[in-house]
Amino acid sequence: MITIAGAGLAGLASAYELAKRGASVTLFEKAEQPGEGSVARFAGGMLAPFCERESAEEEVITLGGQAADWWSQVTTVTRRGTLVVTPPRDQAELTRFARRTSHFAEVSGQAIAELEPALKGRFERGLYFAEEAHLDPRRALDDLATAVQSLGVEIRFGTSAPPEVDLNCTATAASLPDLRAVRGEMAILHCPEVQLSRVIRLLHPRMPLYLVPRADGLFMIGGTMVESNSDRSPTLRSLTEMMSAAFAIHPAFAEASVVEIGAGLRPAFPDNLPRLVEHDGSLHLNGLYRHGFLLAPALAQQAAHHLLKETCT
Ligand SMILES: Cc1cc2nc3c(=O)[nH]c(=O)nc-3n(C[C@H](O)[C@H](O)[C@H](O)COP(=O)(O)OP(=O)(O)OC[C@H]3O[C@@H](n4cnc5c(N)ncnc54)[C@H](O)[C@@H]3O)c2cc1C
Repeated sequence: MITIAGAGLAGLASAYELAKRGASVTLFEKAEQPGEGSVARFAGGMLAPFCERESAEEEVITLGGQAADWWSQVTTVTRRGTLVVTPPRDQAELTRFARRTSHFAEVSGQAIAELEPALKGRFERGLYFAEEAHLDPRRALDDLATAVQSLGVEIRFGTSAPPEVDLNCTATAASLPDLRAVRGEMAILHCPEVQLSRVIRLLHPRMPLYLVPRADGLFMIGGTMVESNSDRSPTLRSLTEMMSAAFAIHPAFAEASVVEIGAGLRPAFPDNLPRLVEHDGSLHLNGLYRHGFLLAPALAQQAAHHLLKETCT
């Protein structure tokens, strides 16, 4: 029997990889409901290795390359790419972003309008990352929990993990040296007047932001990265930036309803890359930072390999 603390992204993905290999797994999750305690409920759900390379190491591409296929085994993945745009006055940001990334096509205003008719006439230039994808984070967490349960994994909700488990996936609740929290803020807008089918990233010298389309006229907007371990509600400054970005993408967002705001703490090591660490008698999978959906599949495979090799010897 393999025991795992935390049924968030890392814990569920690891349980899935272990159960697929025939292991018997029990997950302890302190929250009462699936997804309730996971920072992933605030996530954009972007599977965007090439865009993320702008501010992250090459590993986000090598480890994240298979994420869309992996998630497609359990949930709906939208493979429509990412469109990166900027207001005319910030064109230099687009050039800078292009220098630091790969796997994109430069697109004109006309091509942008063909990709997203709602954006006709709004942007003169953009970058199109056709191979990227996105998913609905809450649905993906639910679908992954259902998938692991159907493989025979027991998830004990409302149960804090015992002090020693085989795999600790408790994110910022783990006491690991060097682990820190990076706060991310978000809002969900309802704006059925605007129809977009892919993630739009708006570059801006102050704060690059992204808008992720969801079903039923909903959009998630986010992008802040604050070195803080406070998960209080989003600040007015961040909300103002987010709402201005939505408005800059399409003026109809001025009439959008704000249906939710939230903030979550992302677990990060100093290099902002996730890893497996042995500490206090447990293996830890932690440090997924802003790439949980992108990198959990590869790290979960590494964790399963490590644990099964150990239990076989
Ligand atoms: C605003 C925002 C946007 C984001 N956007 C993206 C994105 O677009 N793409 C992407 O790939 N990533 C994104 N992320 C990052 C992603 O959400 C995280 O990397 C990921 O959720 C971290 O996974 P985790 O399993 O380490 O932590 P979590 O998913 O938070 O799971 C930890 C779990 O451990 C449980 N737990 C804690 N202590 C105990 C205990 N003692 N006993 C039992 N259970 C315990 C918690 O309740 C929780 O369920 C975003 C994050 C934020 C905040």
